[in-house]
Amino acid sequence: MYRKLAFYIDGEFSGAEGRHAGDVANPATGEVIGRLPHVGPADLDRAVAAAERAFASWRRTSPLARSDLLRKVAALIRERAPDIARDITLDEGKPLEEALVEVTSCAEHVEWHAEECRRIYGRVIPPRQPDVRQFVVREPVGVCAAFSPWNFPFAQAVRKVAAALAAGCTLILKGPEESPSAVVAMAELFHDAGLPAGVLNIVWGDPAAISRHLITAPAVRKISFTGSVPVGKQLAALAGAHMKRMTMELGGHSPVLVFADADVDRAAQMLARFKLRNAGQVCVSPTRFYVQRPAYARFLEAFAHELSQARVGDGLDPSSQMGPLANPRRVAAMADLVADAAGRGAQVVTGGRKVGEEGCFFAPTVLAGLGDDARIMREEPFGPVAPVVPFDTEDEALQRANALPFGLASYVFTESLKTATRVANGLEAGMVNINHFGMGPAEIPFGGIKDSGIGTEGGAETFDGYLVTKFITQL
Ligand code: NAD
Repeated sequence: MYRKLAFYIDGEFSGAEGRHAGDVANPATGEVIGRLPHVGPADLDRAVAAAERAFASWRRTSPLARSDLLRKVAALIRERAPDIARDITLDEGKPLEEALVEVTSCAEHVEWHAEECRRIYGRVIPPRQPDVRQFVVREPVGVCAAFSPWNFPFAQAVRKVAAALAAGCTLILKGPEESPSAVVAMAELFHDAGLPAGVLNIVWGDPAAISRHLITAPAVRKISFTGSVPVGKQLAALAGAHMKRMTMELGGHSPVLVFADADVDRAAQMLARFKLRNAGQVCVSPTRFYVQRPAYARFLEAFAHELSQARVGDGLDPSSQMGPLANPRRVAAMADLVADAAGRGAQVVTGGRKVGEEGCFFAPTVLAGLGDDARIMREEPFGPVAPVVPFDTEDEALQRANALPFGLASYVFTESLKTATRVANGLEAGMVNINHFGMGPAEIPFGGIKDSGIGTEGGAETFDGYLVTKFITQL
């Protein structure tokens, strides 16, 4: 039923063959469903050497040929989406319908990169002397190392791979050991589409040992990481010490500002549905809810009602609106944050507890009556727990929204154009959503500021992290 797991180096899939292997469990049941082979240092050296060899020819492969290959991959994604999605539900937990959306949206991402890579233009600079030609070209940075997380195991990996390969780079990717099926499926797609050996390599094992090995390898010129702020800072420090370029897509603590003039019921319904997505394990999940005092009681009631009605269950059951959390660590983290808030006087409006004995289920939870000193008002919950607090003035809301070191997504609900404009200008965030949610499609640059990261993925900016600028002058 579940995909055969493997690592992939220099065009070959391999099982453990005497190496260590780790268990992969279904978070809905706790059942072990697969064994993932872990690589050792010699395998990592082989992967770097293969990527370095492949770079010599892949960088010279025409953008049109790279584009054709990516289009084949996109077509295969659509064809195999049901199988890939089922395996994501099995090892990550999200409802099957959400997993299908994740997978099929990646076909668009790959197509976007197939289109954009044909437009990696340089420019001509008017020279100071006659008969001199001066131009700027953009070249692939080289061998890249990427580290992708478990919450969107297909999408997060595909974004990195599509951008690197379309730009002409080669790549070694370490995927998420707890939810690995999507990354194995991705390697199979590229392999079957005819990707030359060594252009893409997939490894698994001890994250810290692998990232240290790859970041310090002289041939690796750039790293890309999606994950938590503390790990991102460790990897960025290592990359800095070795002068490696980096893209960092890290955590957030997205503020939501609901003004008194908003369509409060619509806001409550939209935000509740968005909060349930992947059980809140989304870096841009709405996190701190600030509601202007005249609308506070109504919003709290409508929002808590929506969340309390959500059907929580195994993602393979079509009636489930929210699946389990991805691992037992997240269940413990939710229980801790709720206990901390309750200990400081917060009211648990709905949820607040683990659901059932089996699996990693936690009830969608709304907390009210808490101060800014509660841990959940500062720490990213990465789960289905939402604190809702009132505010009085626009200045106060902006000041509280910007008070944390994060700067990823933010959400505003208001019917006033003036409020929307002022608040959009004032929010310290990489992405501002006003009265709707517009992030995610391939053409949108996705990324954060402050501690939430460096650089963007997607959009017209998507190749910025994978290209270097070369100036050529010629008489
Ligand atoms: P974690 O901080 O241990 O790990 C986060 C991710 O980083 C995982 O995918 C892990 O495999 C990887 N990782 C950890 N140490 C690493 C290292 N030294 N080198 C390379 N990769 C490494 O936390 P966790 O319990 O797995 O996840 C919970 C936290 O991670 C959440 O609170 C959230 O902030 C963050 N997270 C963020 C995203 C995102 O989309 N930005 C995705 C997943 C997790």
